[in-house]
Amino acid sequence: MSHYKIALLEGDGIGPEIAREAVKVFKLVEERNDVTFEITHCDFGAGAYFKCGHPFPDETKAVCDAADAIIKGPIGLSHEESQKIPVDMQPERGALLPMRRRYNTFANFRPVSLPKALAHFSPLKPEIIGEGIDIVMVRELVGGLYFGEKEVGVNEQGLRYVRETLEYDEGQISRVVHEAFKLSMRRKKVLHNIHKSNVLKSSVLWNEVVEEIAPEYPEVEVRHVLVDAAATLLCLNPGQFDVMVMENMFGDILSDQGGGILGSLGLMPSSCKGPDKSYYEPSHGSAPDIAGKNIANPYSMIGSVAMMLEDSFGMAEESRNVWRAMQSVFGEGFSTPDLSKPGAGVTMINTDEFGDKVVEALAAMPRPA
Ligand code: NAD
Repeated sequence: MSHYKIALLEGDGIGPEIAREAVKVFKLVEERNDVTFEITHCDFGAGAYFKCGHPFPDETKAVCDAADAIIKGPIGLSHEESQKIPVDMQPERGALLPMRRRYNTFANFRPVSLPKALAHFSPLKPEIIGEGIDIVMVRELVGGLYFGEKEVGVNEQGLRYVRETLEYDEGQISRVVHEAFKLSMRRKKVLHNIHKSNVLKSSVLWNEVVEEIAPEYPEVEVRHVLVDAAATLLCLNPGQFDVMVMENMFGDILSDQGGGILGSLGLMPSSCKGPDKSYYEPSHGSAPDIAGKNIANPYSMIGSVAMMLEDSFGMAEESRNVWRAMQSVFGEGFSTPDLSKPGAGVTMINTDEFGDKVVEALAAMPRPA
């Protein structure tokens, strides 16, 4: 019997609602497999700031340090509510980036996936979707502009100014690029390298490193695409992409566009890999506009469970079962409100109903051997 410690950081906004559905899946996976999960709930984000005075409290750090894997819900507040928190204590700066730094989670994997049978959820035309969308965006997660030095002040002309630094060394680029090549080897052996080398020197170095590593993976075809062109191509011809690799900020923005072409950010789970520990999270934010209404789509959080099962616990078969269970719920004609408009010919279900149906579908599947 394997035993794993999991730190569960529910987060803000819709976080607790979608985390509840993830826990249902963990419980069923325990029943179906020779495994136990010790799940510890921890404060993290804006709620933690108001309760404990810090968005990433020491108690949470200690639980995360001791955990085999971490799963976190989205954090953050509406723009107006965020102003009630000092700038450096606001959730991303005070909790999310420090967690990424603490566990050095340099590679972020964001599947952008929609089977052909669910093409009706996408705003793209069926002829553009073709056989479905199946992309993994690999985003560098602990470098670049988001982690560079920051300075604010007043300059000699008396004008307020800000300076933020975009810095990468070749080691930071190389380790995430290797991850992307390895993933390409397990998939279609086509790697799109996303850059902006016509403007940014950081992209020039990035591309040099990609070219230097490419001969180690001779079967992988590398295609270089400017990030602005990639944004257009994701809408016009997403089928050309399989694995895409990019620096931190490009990945932040393009992966939200990934959610857009699927039909909702609610379909976007992710895994964040570090040398010793990984954490898992929906790619989206805390959706304050729908928080507390039981209408959020928990696919992103349950998908993060599926990624954890495979990547942290080696439970690949059960992970596939969880993905299949989620897709079967949609395949049977159900939809969460983010994905369909009333009258679209689907039966609308809430957050908890989706979780219950996933659990029902998973329970009906043969247990892994
Ligand atoms: P958001 O991603 O929270 O929401 C954008 C839109 O997508 C909203 O209309 C929302 O209702 C919808 N949406 C997102 N997830 C959904 C789900 N699971 N089901 C149904 N609909 C969903 O972006 P935002 O509104 O710009 O940001 C809200 C807060 O989240 C901000 O404080 C922001 O800083 C924070 N944020 C946190 C993370 C993170 O925790 N990793 C990431 C992005 C944004």
